[in-house]
Amino acid sequence: MTVQDEMAHSARLMRLALPEMARHGCAMDPLNYTVWYTHVSGRIPALSEELRAYLAAQDRLSRQQVQSLFDRYINDQEVEAIERMRQDLADVVDDVARNTNSSRAQAHAYEESLQAYVEQFQDDASLDHFSETLQALLGETAAMRSQVDTFGQHLSTTADEVERLREALAVAREESIRDALTGLANRRGFDIALRTALDADPGRSDRGCCLLLLDIDFFKRINDSYGHPLGDRVIASVARVLARMLEPGQTAARYGGEEFAVILPDATRGQARALAERLRADVARGRIKQRNGKAIAQVTVSVGVCVPPVRRTPDTYLETADRALYQSKREGRNRVSILPASAQASGNESEAATERRTA
Ligand code: GH3
Ligand code: MG
Ligand code: MG
Repeated sequence: MTVQDEMAHSARLMRLALPEMARHGCAMDPLNYTVWYTHVSGRIPALSEELRAYLAAQDRLSRQQVQSLFDRYINDQEVEAIERMRQDLADVVDDVARNTNSSRAQAHAYEESLQAYVEQFQDDASLDHFSETLQALLGETAAMRSQVDTFGQHLSTTADEVERLREALAVAREESIRDALTGLANRRGFDIALRTALDADPGRSDRGCCLLLLDIDFFKRINDSYGHPLGDRVIASVARVLARMLEPGQTAARYGGEEFAVILPDATRGQARALAERLRADVARGRIKQRNGKAIAQVTVSVGVCVPPVRRTPDTYLETADRALYQSKREGRNRVSILPASAQASGNESEAATERRTA
C-alpha cells in the first residue's frame, strides 16, 4: 500500500467506526474508539466476533466489556498501528485544508478579474451586452466562492473534531502503556522503552543501557498481616520512591505485581549501582502507616542490576537482571547485586554491602 492508500484506508475506517459508535450510544472516548476502530478494520476476527456477540445480547457495550476487549485483544502492534493512523489523519486533514485554501484563492482571483472587466466595459454603451454577460458570470463566481467558503468552514469544524480525536487517541496510547495503580509505565510500556534504549545503545563496554529489577521483600507477609489494600499502598509508595529519583530519559515501570524495573539508557556501572543503592536505602527508610496511625513493619526491596557488557537484547538483559535479583534474595534480601560480575566491581559491591549493614 502506498502512503496515500494507507491514509485513505485510515480515513475510511474512521468514517466507518464513528457512525457505528454513535448508533450504539458509545461515548467518543479513546478506549471505545480504539476498540471500534480495530473492530471495523477486521484485523482481529476474534475481537469482532465477541463484540458482535455482546451487541446481539444488548444494544450497548458496557465499560467492562470494552475494557476487557481492549485488554485481551489489543497489543503493542495495534497500539502502534493506531498511533500511525493518528499521524495519517493529521496528514489527510492538512492536505484537504491546503486544497480548499487554494480553491478559495482561485475563486477569489477569478472574481476579481471579472470585476475588473465589468468596470472597464461599464462606460461604453456599445459593450452593454458583454457587461450583462459578465455580471451574470460574476454572480455565479460569487456563488461558487461562497460554496467554497462554506466548505472551508465545514472542513475547519471537521478538522477540530479530528484534532480532538487525535488528542484522545494520544491519551489512549498513553493510558495503554501506564499502570493505573502507580502511574509508572506498565509491562507494555516497559517493553517498548527497553527495546528503544537497546536499539539506541552503541554497544560500548564501559557504559550504556543498564536495567534494574526490584522486588519487594516478603510482600506476601505484608498482604497477610495488613490486608490487600494496604499492600497496594505499599506498592504505590515504592513506585513514588522510584519516580522521585529518576532523571529525564530514564524509565521506571511496574514490571509485575510487586516487581519494578528501571531502565537507564546510558549509565556506567558505578552510576547504576549508586542509583540502585539509593533506591534500596530510600525504600528501607520509608514508614507506611496503617489507618490507626501505627507504622507497619519495615518494607525493603531486593535489587538486581544488569550492566554492560552483555548481549544487547531484551531477553539477555531481563535474564541477567533477574539472576542478579535472585542472588540478592538468596544472600539475605534488602541488597543490590550486579551482573555480569567483574573482579574490580565485586570488590566495590562488598563495600556497598558493608555500608548498608552499618546504615
Ligand atoms: P520474596 O521476598 O521472595 O519476593 O517474597 P514475596 O512474599 O514477596 O514473594 P512473591 O514475590 O512470590 O509474592 C508476591 C505476592 O504479591 C504474591 C501476590 O499475592 C502479591 N501481589 C501481586 N500483585 C499484587 C497487587 O497488585 N496488590 C497486592 N496487594 N498484592 C499483590
Ligand atoms: Mg515477586
Ligand atoms: Mg517479593
